Amino acid sequence: MLVTGGAGFIGSVTTLALLEAGHDVIVADDLSNSSKHAIDRVESLARESGAAGDLEFHELDARDDAALHDLFASGHITSVIHFAGLKAVGESVDKPLDYYRVNLGSTVSLVTAMRDHGVRDLVFSSSATVYGPEAQSPLREDAALSTSSPYGRTKLFIEQMLRDVAAAEPGWNIALLRYFNPIGAHPSGLIGEDPRGIPNNLMPYIMQVAVGRRDELVVFGDDYDTADGTCVRDYIHVLDLADGHVAALHAIDRFHGCQAVNLGTGTGHSVLEVLAAATAAVGKPLPFRLGARRPGDIAVTVADPSRAAALLGWSATRTLNDMCTDAWRWQSTNPFGYGD
Ligand code: NAD
Ligand code: UDP
Repeated sequence: MLVTGGAGFIGSVTTLALLEAGHDVIVADDLSNSSKHAIDRVESLARESGAAGDLEFHELDARDDAALHDLFASGHITSVIHFAGLKAVGESVDKPLDYYRVNLGSTVSLVTAMRDHGVRDLVFSSSATVYGPEAQSPLREDAALSTSSPYGRTKLFIEQMLRDVAAAEPGWNIALLRYFNPIGAHPSGLIGEDPRGIPNNLMPYIMQVAVGRRDELVVFGDDYDTADGTCVRDYIHVLDLADGHVAALHAIDRFHGCQAVNLGTGTGHSVLEVLAAATAAVGKPLPFRLGARRPGDIAVTVADPSRAAALLGWSATRTLNDMCTDAWRWQSTNPFGYGD
């Protein structure tokens, strides 16, 4: 199978899970937001665990039609997981064209190559950001869709494009997996999240405070209508997310066209709860202060994960403490990530 973006945070952990499940995996990644070391580490972890699958890596841009054609021409690809893309909400506001070019462009090229080579099984990385502020948590897949950033719009447009593709031609099985808040790292401490520059997301920011790369966490708003006034999110361990992809791939025949599925735990945690769990995992106080709200944030975003349980036979099992412990193992042993 083909995994685009397989050197990234979620892609690397998922590639390992796929190898361990016995799949041969071809990773295509341009390394624009990742490191080749991640692939090397996935390879050695797979070897250590006696994984049955083989890994092949190609450094390429997923918009490169000719390179994709050559990959598919090998005849070994029967299904695809498409992680490749740009993902920073704030950056997408400043550089919308980059986001449309990469996220939409890579998907058009990839799906065209799939069609031309008769490959019809696709798992796509969507996001809970497609649920509009008016939709009520716990969010079901049929909740109202709308989004406030160019990044979110690329996900909405791609979802719609894939529905159109599946409607135009029989035989497609497309899973639109809407991730909630993936955090944590592989329990080995060898593969994890390595954001470039100042992290936008809560857990990598906390972890950089913990290793001394940042002075303090700023909690964005404590006057929301939640128990402690800080925003509530559905944090999911990246290993659970990886297992969700393996489950989606194994259940792909049940998709019959194109369907969206939430990957979340169904349980929400506030910013202060995450900070407390991270502080316990790190074992020392983490400096923080309460600050202003971040524009565009919604008070509560939590999944209704029941469709994933019914359709994929999958549900998340790992706790917030597991997520923090594994994130800290990764960050403390790799304070500067992969170091490149
Ligand atoms: P990531 O940046 O770590 O991984 C994305 C990978 O895609 C990187 O390895 C990058 O080098 C690669 N890439 C980017 N543009 C490419 C191109 N044109 N051709 C080939 N490779 C390219 O991000 P991630 O957190 O692992 O996210 C993976 C996917 O999941 C993304 O599509 C993202 O939008 C989606 N998602 C992520 C989150 C999250 O919180 N991390 C939440 C919801 C959805
Ligand atoms: N957050 C915060 N300080 C930070 C980064 C994030 O208080 O430095 C908060 C943010 O306002 C949100 C929650 O943490 O309520 C999760 O933010 P993240 O960006 O990780 O995920 P998303 O907002 O996309 O759900």
